[in-house]
Amino acid sequence: MSTVYRNARGSQLVDGIPAWQVRENLILASYALHSRFSTGRVHEEPPHPYRGPFQRDRDRVLHSAAFRRLSGKMQVFTGDMGDYHRTRLTHTHEVASIARTIGRTLRLNEDLIEAMSLLHDIGHPPFGHCGEDVLDECMHDYGGFSHNRFALELVENIEQRYTSYAGLNLSFEVLEGQQHRTNKSGPDVPWLEAQVVDAADSMAYDAHDLDDALKLGLLQWNQLGQLGLIQRVLRQNRMPQLLPETQRQRLVHSLIDLQVDQFLEGSLQQLAEAGDLDCRAIREVGIRLQMPPQLEQEKAELEKFLFEHVYRHPRLIEIRQRAATRVRQLFSLLNAYPERLPHRFQQIAATRGVPIAVGFYIAGMTDRFCDDQYVRMIELGRELADDWM
Ligand code: MG
Repeated sequence: MSTVYRNARGSQLVDGIPAWQVRENLILASYALHSRFSTGRVHEEPPHPYRGPFQRDRDRVLHSAAFRRLSGKMQVFTGDMGDYHRTRLTHTHEVASIARTIGRTLRLNEDLIEAMSLLHDIGHPPFGHCGEDVLDECMHDYGGFSHNRFALELVENIEQRYTSYAGLNLSFEVLEGQQHRTNKSGPDVPWLEAQVVDAADSMAYDAHDLDDALKLGLLQWNQLGQLGLIQRVLRQNRMPQLLPETQRQRLVHSLIDLQVDQFLEGSLQQLAEAGDLDCRAIREVGIRLQMPPQLEQEKAELEKFLFEHVYRHPRLIEIRQRAATRVRQLFSLLNAYPERLPHRFQQIAATRGVPIAVGFYIAGMTDRFCDDQYVRMIELGRELADDWM
């Protein structure tokens, strides 16, 4: 019979093994990234008494300022369009939920999946992809801007939690998962947990962007009839072709179910065929979990449809144009008057240059804070110099 006790440091041990490791040994598949395989952190830390390393990473991301600010960042639709649709924060939670469901079924490391999920969009600037495009343009001569890369900047260099070093000191495996997002077509095969997060991201936004667009009236039901994926969902769930508005949520939930089911079916087969390999061997073999080709095609068709009818909708184009002007002018003004930057970003300006510090400062803003700063600084800018624009 196992003996549970605490050692002198207060760690909960079972027969001399940390309790979280015992739990993982019981629950996780051989190919999961067991926490004991973690290669550690840049700054070495003593183990926590009862939380595994990836649990700690998840908690560090959750408690970061950048994570909280996701609540004030738009996903696709802005705050003045209502309060039903997703923000960047609720999108992140939907991704984490879907990814954990898949991870639990595949017996992967859910703590790692959750840490990677909560981290995956933390680097998004205000005003969604519009904000990102403008920052990328403004920072073109300084390496450009990508929200995936900026997530790493935040957790490695900008977030301040410890007195002796910057950043959250996350495990290398969590950082590596995010690193893969910066170059998805790279030769390295990501950890299975990172692949699951990537798949869940796409499942979530395809479903919730459709839901939000219907709710906001940017799309009408009769426009969906041409889409293969929607047709399949309606058929499989014996739903009528022309749905009443009340069936919208049922359609969206069924859309997530179908994607998860199909992804799991293929993944379980791939992993069964791979045999009894550990997480490192499974990477060497080059296993990439994929959606079935038919689903890939149907998702591509849906995404093209969303791009044309939703992301390029006149109401959103107008919002994008206004946001682009604000971000561009704010960037220009702060570049001209870097003394207006908060102290933390003046430190970054001293080592990496003003344009990079300005880009990072703006990228950290919520939509509303960016709007407020724009109004304040443009007024101030006019006082400081008439000719800066
Ligand atoms: Mg995302």
